[in-house]
Amino acid sequence: MANQLKPETLCVQAGWNPGKGEPRVLPIYQSTTFKYETSEQMAKLFDLEESGYFYTRLQNPTNDAVAAKITALEGGVAGMLTSSGQAASFYAFFNICEAGDHIVSAATIYGGTYNLLSVTLKKLGITCTFIDQDASEEEISKAFRPNTKLMFGETISNPGVMVLDIEKFARIAHTHGVPLIIDNTFATPINCRPFEWGADIVTHSTTKYMDGHATSVGGCIVDSGNFDWNTHAEKYPGLCKPDPSYHGLTYTKDFGKAGYITKATSQLMRDLGAIQSPQNAFLLNIGLETLHLRIPRHCENALKVATWLQENEKVAWVNYPELKGNTYYELAKKYLPNGSCGVLSFGLKGGRDIAIRFMDNLQLAAIVTHVADARTSVLHPASHTHRQLTDEQLIEAGVAPDLIRLSVGIENAEDIIADIEQALTK
Ligand SMILES: *Cc1c(COP(=O)(O)O)cnc(C)c1O
Repeated sequence: MANQLKPETLCVQAGWNPGKGEPRVLPIYQSTTFKYETSEQMAKLFDLEESGYFYTRLQNPTNDAVAAKITALEGGVAGMLTSSGQAASFYAFFNICEAGDHIVSAATIYGGTYNLLSVTLKKLGITCTFIDQDASEEEISKAFRPNTKLMFGETISNPGVMVLDIEKFARIAHTHGVPLIIDNTFATPINCRPFEWGADIVTHSTTKYMDGHATSVGGCIVDSGNFDWNTHAEKYPGLCKPDPSYHGLTYTKDFGKAGYITKATSQLMRDLGAIQSPQNAFLLNIGLETLHLRIPRHCENALKVATWLQENEKVAWVNYPELKGNTYYELAKKYLPNGSCGVLSFGLKGGRDIAIRFMDNLQLAAIVTHVADARTSVLHPASHTHRQLTDEQLIEAGVAPDLIRLSVGIENAEDIIADIEQALTK
């Protein structure tokens, strides 16, 4: 039923359907544990024979309601919350990869995910080949190996705001018999639902637009249920062969389309424990209720700011996918017809030193590491996140020394532009 409702209604209503006399608003189940009448009832839960709550590390009703809302928004069959976006990416990969396996990923992705793939997973014996997401199918296909288990990319990359050709990625992944995992953090399901373009699994840093108010770090994984693990059973023994840690049940057999998420919950959450606190899930849910109102305003404001910057003579360049002439303009029209996101980047004539002086003169836009919340914020990667690098190293890393990243908020666009204008004049 929920999937027939439109996104605006799902944002407000999905996930929590109270019965007679129950709280209208999703309650915070601030309880580590849940009570049963008989020892037998509890035993069945531990064997995954019956579903039910017993310990919040595995499942909590507040978290489940919020995961169900995001699952409905993405049009998936099962979802789970995690403590952060990083935990969501790690679980999404580690659920189907082990030592000796290989991943193919777009190179221009969020720095934290890049480190996870290139440094930390490598220590666990999982290697990654990074590819240029704009390369031809033929070129990208060369990265695949017999031990490749998944392909990964971001709908809109952070911070480059490059738009991914999801259909192309899905074709390549499926030709090689692996699922496509998409980080949909910047677009959100309001602007793009990757499952409609062939993606199999979606991850989110809910820390960004979903929470939207910069109050809570969190993540989410949603499964479309579309990837047929059993066709490639020898590649995914963790899903298609009996699990000795649960008396030999088989996830794809016993849980069908929910197998992937059930495994991530009952194995990875059980053993690694990166849960979202119910308090944070509650705040996330309040954020989600207005996601469909906030996202269009972020996009509208960002386009106004980008257009204004482009016309200003002190500005050297502007990168925003919805500007005509941008490399990703056509892909944005196709995948993001209603708008892309509130993040853009630009450079000032005069380079690095001018960028620093400009930022120090901003009054409304705050200097913070965060992006994608209600308040306009700004960051200069060359002096902050990448400050140890020389100008040459910065260019190699794809970060222009003069690049200013602007996360446009939902204030009045004229006020945001006026702030930029006064800082430029100074
Ligand atoms: C922030 C971010 C992450 C990491 O999320 P956290 O919640 O900070 O752990 C992953 N992917 C993208 C695209 C992000 O912007």
